[in-house]
Amino acid sequence: MASKTVQLLLVEDDQADAKFLRACLARSKGSKPDITHAQCLNDALALLQDTRFDVILLDLNLPDATGEVSVSKIQDACPKIPIVILSGEDNEDYAIGILNQGVQDYLVKWDGEGATILRSIRYAIERKRTELRLTFLATYDSLTEIPNRNFFVEHLNKAVSRAQRNGTLLGLVFLDLDRFKGVNDTLGHYFGDKLLCAVAKRISAAVRNGDIVARMGGDEFAILLENMNDTQAAEAVARKLTEVLAEPYELDGGSVNITVSVGITIYPKDHGDPETLVKNADMAMYQAKSAGRNGYQFFNEKMHDEIVRQHEVAQELRRALDNREFSLLYQPQLRLDDGRLDGAEALIRWNHPQKNLVMPNDFIGIAEESGQIVQVGNWVIEEAFRQSLVWQTDAAAPPRMAINISPRQIHQPSFYPDLKRLLITYGVNPEHIEIEITESCLIEDVQFVQKSLQKLKDLGFTLAIDDFGTGHSCLDYLRRFPIDILKIDRSFVKDIGSGKHGTAICRAILSIADGLNMETVGEGIETEEQLQFLIDNGCHRGQGYYFSPAVKPEDLATLITHGTLNQRFSGSDDVNQLNRRQIRHV
Ligand code: C2E
Ligand code: MG
Ligand code: MG
Repeated sequence: MASKTVQLLLVEDDQADAKFLRACLARSKGSKPDITHAQCLNDALALLQDTRFDVILLDLNLPDATGEVSVSKIQDACPKIPIVILSGEDNEDYAIGILNQGVQDYLVKWDGEGATILRSIRYAIERKRTELRLTFLATYDSLTEIPNRNFFVEHLNKAVSRAQRNGTLLGLVFLDLDRFKGVNDTLGHYFGDKLLCAVAKRISAAVRNGDIVARMGGDEFAILLENMNDTQAAEAVARKLTEVLAEPYELDGGSVNITVSVGITIYPKDHGDPETLVKNADMAMYQAKSAGRNGYQFFNEKMHDEIVRQHEVAQELRRALDNREFSLLYQPQLRLDDGRLDGAEALIRWNHPQKNLVMPNDFIGIAEESGQIVQVGNWVIEEAFRQSLVWQTDAAAPPRMAINISPRQIHQPSFYPDLKRLLITYGVNPEHIEIEITESCLIEDVQFVQKSLQKLKDLGFTLAIDDFGTGHSCLDYLRRFPIDILKIDRSFVKDIGSGKHGTAICRAILSIADGLNMETVGEGIETEEQLQFLIDNGCHRGQGYYFSPAVKPEDLATLITHGTLNQRFSGSDDVNQLNRRQIRHV
């Protein structure tokens, strides 16, 4: 294959040196480069503006710049062109030092042969090409071919300094596809990838030329808006993006619709270093998600306080395990056909030295986010097993125990071996243990979850889906998972009899479970009416303040020996009511 002639820019003020070099090249065999000669740095920079060169031979001693300055100015002007340094024998060490500035090779003048010089040129071109390829791989996303997180963060750092210097506004817009996992799982990864590429294209087309659009990972994108006139400009971008991205995507004959949630932060209004700005935008985006998705939110100080609080909690959690600040309470579950005590759900409490009792909703999410849920979850399992062992020899104790597990735990490779080890250590019968996972966990990565749940089944556990009805899973998924129990979310039970949809949803869930041969547990039963409805509609088990809140194991024993739970089931009397209230405040 005939290679095209190499365009060489020789930057050399010494005429004798230049002549010698030309002569060497002329004498050598093989194809020779086209040489353009510049006598000083400024001439070289001028030439570089309108001509494309393949390589630059650069003398270190130019009349208008030192070696370092020449190299860095040329690199700034043409970052993609390889540079070969020309040094005299007397300044070879200096030339080697300059190699660190990122030039591709160096030659010592006068001891060159044409072949050596040509080899050096070829080598420099090759090397630069590899370098550029590696930089591309490190800073671009290979799927969508737009910048990646590294690139974005690097540019953000520079942009923040610029905005600070020039007193200009900077906008950070974060964007996450809503329910992308669902698309991936139902339509396949191939389709999911296509969709991500299409989204990247639409975003790039929707913003101004200089704005940086990056894929931050997964289905998350970021846009950096420099030199905005006002905050409305960022809002306009956010609005435009939600609109253009909501248009249907026609991919491979299929059509799909998707919405996005957008978070915006503005520098310097929302002050902070680049890292904080990224967190702000992320936080605002999550806020947009929890506000119902398909919309945008500006970051505000309240979100900042929330970040600070979460950070504090994450720090304190570290200490809490060492200080044994956690405990488990047990909420009884009754059989709804005869009111017998059928099980108990282990619910964690944090006895914080300053804040007293901290409820799981105020720290489990943070522990999941920070990864500490793995240690906390292990503690829960061990403690619950210990209690279960105590109960195994107590005929009056609840025959089954339910333990809540976070999705993050399931994703740990050590989860199953640890679980098995604890089963053996405590000699617990897994048939007496129910593992509860939230419904939202099911729609994440269907195949993985399916395998994970099967592993739990193989260990002998019973599986329950917690908060059923809130996680948007489709019935088809349910059939594919080895699930034994559905727990109806308490938000639906709460609505029973209130004229809202809750009643219908409860009935629907009960009939689905019946069709799939699954057992049902009604959560959060607080009234006689709710209980009666669940009994009438064939719910198997019930749990809620109507019977008892979560209590210490010894208080559960008291409830059992006094027969309080069963009496409560078959009707109310004053004594039981009194008991229930007392217990609720332990
Ligand atoms: P969940 O698993 O759905 O647990 C039921 C929650 O409803 C408990 O709140 C319980 O106290 C509450 N509850 C029970 N009966 C009633 C009622 O009649 N009315 C009302 N309004 N609420 C009732 P809790 O203990 O605050 O736990 C909240 C959530 O925290 C749990 O929801 C569970 O998702 C999570 N959680 C609790 N313990 C653990 C744990 O050890 N590990 C993990 N990963 N998550 C846990
Ligand atoms: Mg639960
Ligand atoms: Mg629940």
